[in-house]
Amino acid sequence: MPDRSKRIRALLGGEDDAWDIFYRARAMKAAGEPVLELTIGEHDTGTDPAILDAMHRAALDGHTGYASVPGIAALRDRIAARMSEASGVPLSRDNILVTPGGQAGLFAAHHAALDEGDAGLMIDPYYATYPGTIRAVGARPVAVAARPEDGFQPRGADIAAAARETGARSLLINSPNNPTGAVYSADTLDDIAGAAEACDLWVISDEVYESQVWNGRHLPFAARPGMAARTLTVGSMSKSHAMTGSRLGWVAGPADVVADMIQLATHTTYGVPGYIQEAALFALGLGPEAERIVAAPFLRRRDLVLARIGAQNLLRAVPPEGAMYVMIDVRGTGLSGVDFAGALLEETRVAVMPGESFGKAAAGHVRVALTLPDDAFAEALDRLFTFAEARAAAA
Ligand code: PMP
Repeated sequence: MPDRSKRIRALLGGEDDAWDIFYRARAMKAAGEPVLELTIGEHDTGTDPAILDAMHRAALDGHTGYASVPGIAALRDRIAARMSEASGVPLSRDNILVTPGGQAGLFAAHHAALDEGDAGLMIDPYYATYPGTIRAVGARPVAVAARPEDGFQPRGADIAAAARETGARSLLINSPNNPTGAVYSADTLDDIAGAAEACDLWVISDEVYESQVWNGRHLPFAARPGMAARTLTVGSMSKSHAMTGSRLGWVAGPADVVADMIQLATHTTYGVPGYIQEAALFALGLGPEAERIVAAPFLRRRDLVLARIGAQNLLRAVPPEGAMYVMIDVRGTGLSGVDFAGALLEETRVAVMPGESFGKAAAGHVRVALTLPDDAFAEALDRLFTFAEARAAAA
C-alpha cells in the first residue's frame, strides 16, 4: 500500500482520541447495556416535526438536485439579516457561505486564514475538534490557557504573548463556550479585540451556541469596533434548532474571503442539500421563541447540577453562563478526568467526557452534557455524585 499523507496521519497530533469514552459508551449501548449518556452535545428532544415537514415538502417539491454551492439566496439573505440584527454590522448574502454544519465552517475559515506551517491560536479548554481542524489545513494549533479562577475568560495579554512567540495568524474563540459554558464578557471581547489588532490576527469566532445564553444576550465578536474586517463568524442550526443531523451551518465574513471559501466548497462539499436549506429557512422563520424552547431544558438542568454542587464540598464547578454543558472539577476525588470518566462508565454506566479531551486547562475535570430528560439526568447525577464520594472516601 502506498504511504498515506503526513497531514492525514498527523491529524490527531499523536494525542489520544478525545472521543474514546464516547465510542466506548456507544459500543456498550449497541451491546444492549443501559448507558446514561452525557457525552456529546446532542439534544434529547430531536428536531421539531414542523421543520421536518418543511424538509419533506421541500424534497417533494423538487429541491433534491444540486443546490447553489454558496447556499440558496433566500437562506443566505435570512442568515445575513439575522446576524446584522444581532451585531449591527451590515451584511448581505455575499458575506455568507452556507456549509454542511458549523464544523465545515471552522475548516473553511482556517483554510482561508492560515498557510501551511502557520500557527493558529485556540483558547484552552477547547472543543475537541479544534486542534485537528487546524492541523487539517496544514497549520499548527497553539493553545492559550483560560483559567478556572478567571471563570475561563481568556486574557488578551496571554493571547498577544502566544501570538508574538509563534507568529500566529489566527485566533479561534468560542462564546458561549464548549466545554466550560463561559460566556465572554464585553470586557473580555474588547481585550481579545485589542490583541487581535495588535498582532494582526484573523479571529475565527465560533458562535454556534449563540441561542443558549443564560444571562443577558449573546455578544457577537464581529460587533466589537474595527473587528468585522478581521472576523470570520461560524454559526449553525445544530444547537439552536436541534438540527445536529441535518448538517447545516455557515461562515460569515468579508465578501472577498467568502468568495474564496466558496471556491473551497466547490472543490470539497459542493454545497448543502436544497431540502435541508429550505428546512433551515423555515426554521429560522419560526423566530426566537422556537430557539428559546430548544434551549430551555439546558438551563433547567444546569440549575439541577448547580444545586447538587452547592449541597456538597467535594466536586466544584464554574457556573456555566451558556451552552449545554457543565464542567465539573473532580480533583477532590484524587482522580484525573480520564480515570474518573473511565471508572464512572465501567462502574455506574454513566458516560461523561474527560476534561483532558478538551485540553490541558481542563485536566481534572469532566464535562457533563445536559442532554438527557430530567428524570434520567437526575439519576445520572445521583450516580456521579455517589461514585465521587465513594472514591474520595477510599483515597
Ligand atoms: N463548535 C462547537 C463549539 C461545537 O460544540 C460543535 C458541535 N458540538 C460545533 C462547532 C460543530 O457543530 P455542527 O457542525 O453540528 O454545526
